[in-house]
Amino acid sequence: MTTEGPIRSAGRNALRVAVFGAGAFGGWTAYALARGGARVTLFDAWGPGHARASSGGETRVIRATYGSHSVYTAMAARALDLWRAHEARWQRRLIRHIGALWMFGSPGDARFVAASGEALAAHGLALDRLTSSEAARRFPQVSFDGILEILFEPQAGYLLARRACEHVVECLMAEGGEYRLGAAESPVRVEGSSVRAVRLVTGEMVEADCFVFACGPWLGSLFPETLGNLLSVTRQEVFYFGTPAGDDRFTDERMPVWIDFRDRVMYGVPGNAHRGFKIADDTTGPIFDPTSGDRDASAAGIAAARAFVADRFPALSNAPLVGSEVCQYESTPDSNYIIDRHPEAANLWIAGGGSGHGYKMGPAIGEMISSLVLDGGQPPPLFALERFAAPPVGGWKQKWS
Ligand SMILES: Cc1cc2nc3c(=O)[nH]c(=O)nc-3n(C[C@H](O)[C@H](O)[C@H](O)COP(=O)(O)OP(=O)(O)OC[C@H]3O[C@@H](n4cnc5c(N)ncnc54)[C@H](O)[C@@H]3O)c2cc1C
Repeated sequence: MTTEGPIRSAGRNALRVAVFGAGAFGGWTAYALARGGARVTLFDAWGPGHARASSGGETRVIRATYGSHSVYTAMAARALDLWRAHEARWQRRLIRHIGALWMFGSPGDARFVAASGEALAAHGLALDRLTSSEAARRFPQVSFDGILEILFEPQAGYLLARRACEHVVECLMAEGGEYRLGAAESPVRVEGSSVRAVRLVTGEMVEADCFVFACGPWLGSLFPETLGNLLSVTRQEVFYFGTPAGDDRFTDERMPVWIDFRDRVMYGVPGNAHRGFKIADDTTGPIFDPTSGDRDASAAGIAAARAFVADRFPALSNAPLVGSEVCQYESTPDSNYIIDRHPEAANLWIAGGGSGHGYKMGPAIGEMISSLVLDGGQPPPLFALERFAAPPVGGWKQKWS
């Protein structure tokens, strides 16, 4: 594979694949490729699930409720099956099925609710409608003021995000793949219709038959001509509030994941390695540099999170802020992922554009890319780069529309 000597072989004539990026997209892709018989080397510039990676948080929500975007419901249902199957296979708990509470504040949200219910039912997944009094009885720690529609998605929950990234890499190595700390040089040089080698920042050349770049928010700088204008990397703040001592109302024993659409999209996850009650605003933040951007929370963000907590979770009105993180979304114009060959080089794949909702899909994305690389075929048009050739009439549709 590399000029530095052979890698452990998964088969004498196996395809040599170099995967760059050990986040949710690249880690699962490398693992699926190794299971499919490829000779895989996975590189990451800083390590799987590191603090600057988009996959690097404690937790990420897994849900299949996607309104009318039924492709994503199908993909989430497949991902859910794969997470469960791998948990069983690895004897490792990475997913917590605590359900998701959806709260909507406008009558117009009914369309999203109805479309979601139909899409979930097609995959045997439940989405229960709760009346205000049922919801208040079940979740007395939540104030449902201003909420008109309430749904509960029982099979949803959360994933142990950064820990799963590390674990997937360990499992890749157990399958005969190799993991190396190493960064591809930016920009990646694509000359001719097939790439034979990629240069690392150390000057070393990595040779392979096929390359997969799953470098999350760094993809735009690696491929400025192809992706530079397509991926916007934005600053997203996450807050952890301290709960009262000995109080289990805000733990994952009593509280599901929740998503609140009343004024803007706010969401949260209980159970974060006991780091606190997690709250985040899904609104797209300012443009951010994932390598050198400052990761201290802003005073305005803290104040807004405090006000929201006091309103929605009155028992946490005076809760102290015990931690914060700044992560980033790498969003495409239509919030759909990018999974496609490089337009000039058929043996170079690009996977990314998670747009704030990609983590849960890792196993399904890995399976899809592995099949495309090993068996050939075309990616679903929804993920193809060609869709950006002309903006659709009426503009791009966003993820919650
Ligand atoms: C605050 C926040 C909350 C989110 N919540 C959810 C959620 O609840 N549910 C959900 O499904 N999704 C959620 N997401 C989105 C999800 O986390 C991302 O879509 C997903 O993690 C993207 O994974 P990735 O592998 O594409 O990118 P990353 O995780 O960023 O991985 C890319 C990797 O590439 C490596 N890399 C970069 N450059 C190079 C190079 N030159 N050479 C080698 N390696 C390189 C990096 O070091 C990094 O490890 C959230 C995101 C954020 C920020």
